[in-house]
Amino acid sequence: MTIKTPHPETIVLHAGYRSDPATGAVAAPIYQTTSYQFANTQQAENLFALKELGNIYSRIMNPTCAILEERVSALEGGVAALAVSSGQAATAISIQNIARAGDNIVSSTDLYGGTWNLFANTLPTFGIEVRFVDPADPENFRRATDGRTRAYYAETLPNPKLQVFPIGEVAAIGEDLGVPLIVDNTAAPVICRPLAHGAHIVVHSTTKYIGGHGTSIGGILVDGGKFDWAKHAERFPLLNQPDPSYHGAVWTEAAAPLGPIAYILKARVTLQRDLGYALSPFNAFQFIQGLETLPLRIREHCRNASAVAKFLAEHPEVTKVIHPNRQTGEAKRRADTYLSGGNGGLVGFELKGGKEAGRRFIDALQLFYHVANIGDVRSLAIHPASTTHSQLSPAEQLATGVSDGYVRLSVGIEHIDDILADLERALDAAAAGAKAA
Ligand code: PLP
Repeated sequence: MTIKTPHPETIVLHAGYRSDPATGAVAAPIYQTTSYQFANTQQAENLFALKELGNIYSRIMNPTCAILEERVSALEGGVAALAVSSGQAATAISIQNIARAGDNIVSSTDLYGGTWNLFANTLPTFGIEVRFVDPADPENFRRATDGRTRAYYAETLPNPKLQVFPIGEVAAIGEDLGVPLIVDNTAAPVICRPLAHGAHIVVHSTTKYIGGHGTSIGGILVDGGKFDWAKHAERFPLLNQPDPSYHGAVWTEAAAPLGPIAYILKARVTLQRDLGYALSPFNAFQFIQGLETLPLRIREHCRNASAVAKFLAEHPEVTKVIHPNRQTGEAKRRADTYLSGGNGGLVGFELKGGKEAGRRFIDALQLFYHVANIGDVRSLAIHPASTTHSQLSPAEQLATGVSDGYVRLSVGIEHIDDILADLERALDAAAAGAKAA
């Protein structure tokens, strides 16, 4: 692309691919192939030795996945990306790439329930300790850091609290101590670019807004290319000491001729090779289609969610509305600093009648789907305490901000009048049930 500083609307249509060199096809082709014919033995040797970058086997790279990687990387302002089979895989790889048994990471308590489980229960079985800290005070990250801390981890706009993470503040602490900040930007694509605020790695569940149509599971990691892994060689032996699994390659050195991509190169050629979290080219194609309209859709999601938050705040059955528009003080400052062009498509609220009213409300919805998902073009609703967060203990649920009566909405792009009419009807049903009881 020759445009100097393209806007997101342009990037998602043009970055990394214009037409197929073999056929001229304008739409991204689905390269449904496992393997790639080498030109000759010299080329094959060069590819395996990383002297030349190119296709070897689709577990490690694929041309359709590469288009998705280029576009999401460009959208986030990164230097390279790795597409994987789910958002969970993206998170797992983002940590496993730099931490091993005996190491630790420091994570915000405000996390998606699946990530909480990975961190609280599964990573410790690999010997990786996760220290959870409250992001209300960014200094908590500094206090929890020691010589074995390999990363900070957080979500831009975590639900259910919907309080924006202090990206710049924690990234600055990380710069100070030599610890990279990994940000899950799933809930805020386009409206937040964490790398521009100092984060070092971005992960997404592409399953959500990037895909947008609820058809495919996928994830992606984007390398910002700014973290100086070699400067902190002692903290990052996995990137700075010879890797016996790759002819003793030292990743900071091996990547140098290719650009500041040591982190993502290692993730691709070792973890993706060994653990096999490969994204199918067909799903990559679906995400490329979704990406093309992402900026447009996000605008509508944000607009509708703001209108829903206002409507709920004025409704007598609702005791509390959780949305960045309703916040004050430091939470509002963070939303104003890190989000632009909208405050996202998620809205939380609590009903006067608590848990039972929540159930009646969900059961009365006709337009909203009752599903465990966010970021679909359709409006979605869920009761987290009995579903997405049900595997957490009551104390863990409270720590992540889930109360018994909390309902989460992922507001879609239907006409706002129809969305509000459905909510009104369901709120009436919740109230009527309470009166009958
Ligand atoms: N991150 C966030 C913020 C999510 O909401 C989810 C899923 O809901 C994930 C990560 C995990 O993504 P996936 O379901 O694609 O594995």
